[in-house]
Amino acid sequence: MRSIFRRWFAAGLFLFLLTLPLSLTGCSSETAAERAADLAARQELAAAPRHGNTPDYSLGPAELAKADHLNRVGELLHFGDEAWGILSLVLLLSTGAVAWMQDRSLKMSGNRWAQGYSFLFLFLLITTLLELPVDLYAHHLSLRYGLSVQGWPSWLWDQAKVFALSWGIGGLLVMLLFWIIRRLPRLWWLVFWCVSIPILFFGIFAAPYLEPLFFKYQPLEKTNPALVARLEQVVQKGQMDIPPERMFLMKASAKLSTLNADVEGFGASKRVVVWDTTIARMSPDEIVFVFGHESGHYVLHHIRDTLIFVLILLLVTFYLGYRFVQWAISRFGPGWSVGSQDDWAALAVLLLAFSIFGTLLEPIQNAYSRAHEHAADVYGEEAIHGLVADPRDTARRAFDVLGRTSLDDPNPNPLYVFWTYSHPSIGYRAAFAEAYDPWAPGMMPRYFKK
Ligand SMILES: [Zn+2]
Repeated sequence: MRSIFRRWFAAGLFLFLLTLPLSLTGCSSETAAERAADLAARQELAAAPRHGNTPDYSLGPAELAKADHLNRVGELLHFGDEAWGILSLVLLLSTGAVAWMQDRSLKMSGNRWAQGYSFLFLFLLITTLLELPVDLYAHHLSLRYGLSVQGWPSWLWDQAKVFALSWGIGGLLVMLLFWIIRRLPRLWWLVFWCVSIPILFFGIFAAPYLEPLFFKYQPLEKTNPALVARLEQVVQKGQMDIPPERMFLMKASAKLSTLNADVEGFGASKRVVVWDTTIARMSPDEIVFVFGHESGHYVLHHIRDTLIFVLILLLVTFYLGYRFVQWAISRFGPGWSVGSQDDWAALAVLLLAFSIFGTLLEPIQNAYSRAHEHAADVYGEEAIHGLVADPRDTARRAFDVLGRTSLDDPNPNPLYVFWTYSHPSIGYRAAFAEAYDPWAPGMMPRYFKK
C-alpha cells in the first residue's frame, strides 16, 4: 500500500514540476500578437535546414561552419561533462579515494572545523583536477573560435580564485549542514532547506560585490553619458526606479569577445550591467533594445520569481538527496567505507545525488528560464516602440549581432534546445522579433497599452 502511495506521490511531483514553469510564468495569458509571432517563428525554423541559416538570422559560409562545429562539440561536452561528473564521484567513492580523504582529515586533527575544511580541500582539489581536462579544452575552443581573448595565466588565476571561494564559502555551508545532520538525522533536509532561504537571498544580494574579483566595473554615467540618457527614456517609459547610479559598465573585453547585459543583485544591490563589448559592437538603437530586454527582467520581477522557483526545486532536491543517501549508504556504504550520513565522506554521496537530480531537473529549470527570457524579449520590443524608428527591425538586428559574436547555431536541434538552452535559440528570437507586431490593427501590446 505504501509503495503505491509513494509511486503516485512521485508521479504527481513529476507532473507538478513539469507544469511549474508554465504556471509560474503565466503563459496562458499570451496575447493574439504573441501567438501569431510565435507561430510564424516556429514555421520559419521548421522550414529552415537543421543547423542552417534562417531568413531572419544567417551567417556566412565560414561562420556557419564554425557555428556548426562549435554546436556539435558543445553538445558532446555538455552531456559528457555531466556524465563525467557523476561517474567521477562514483569512481572516487568505489575506489576508496573519498574514504582516504576522510581518514587523512580525521588523523590531522580532532577539531571538527579543521576536519571539515581539510576534507573539503582534498575533495575539491581532486574533483577540480578531474574536471580540468574538460575545462582546459573548453577554454581552448573559446580561444580558437575567438569567443574569448583571455590568456592562459589569467584564466588559471581565475580558476584559483573560484577554488578559493568554493573552499571558503563552501566550507561554512558544509559545517552548517553536518551540524544539522548530526542533530536532526531524519529532518535535516527540511531544516537545511529553511536555513538555505536566507543564505540564498544573501548570496544573490552579495553576488554583485564578488564579481569585481573577475571583471572591472565602472558607472555607465561616467563612460557613456549619452547612452545613459537614452536608457533613461526606457526607464521612464516602464515607470521603473532605476537611477543612473544603478547602471554599470562591465569591462568584459579584457577577457571575452561575446556580448551581454544583465540585471543582478537584490534590494539595495540590484543593478543593470552592460558589457563594454556590447557597446563596441552594437548601434545605440540595438543597445536600447538590449536594455529594454534587461529592464523587462527588472519590471516583471524575474529575480524574485526565480528565487521562489529555485527554492521549490531545492526542497525537492534536498528531500530526494536525503532518501538517496539513506539508500546508497545501506546498499554500498560498507564497500565505500561510508558508515553513516554524518561521516564527512557522506558529502560525496550527497553531491552524487545532487549531480544526478540536477541533471534530471535541468530541462525544467531551462524551460522556466526560457519563458522569462521570452517575456523579456516581448517587453523589450514594446519598450522601445516610439524610441527607435523600427522596433521590429532593431530587435532582429540586435539578435543578429548577438548571435554572430557568439557563433550561435541558427537552427539547433529542438531536443538539445529543450534540454540545455536557458534562452530560446537566437534564430527563434530573431524570427519572433521580426514577426511580432502588436501595433497592427486589431492587435494589442502586452505590457504597454496603445
Ligand atoms: Zn535576459
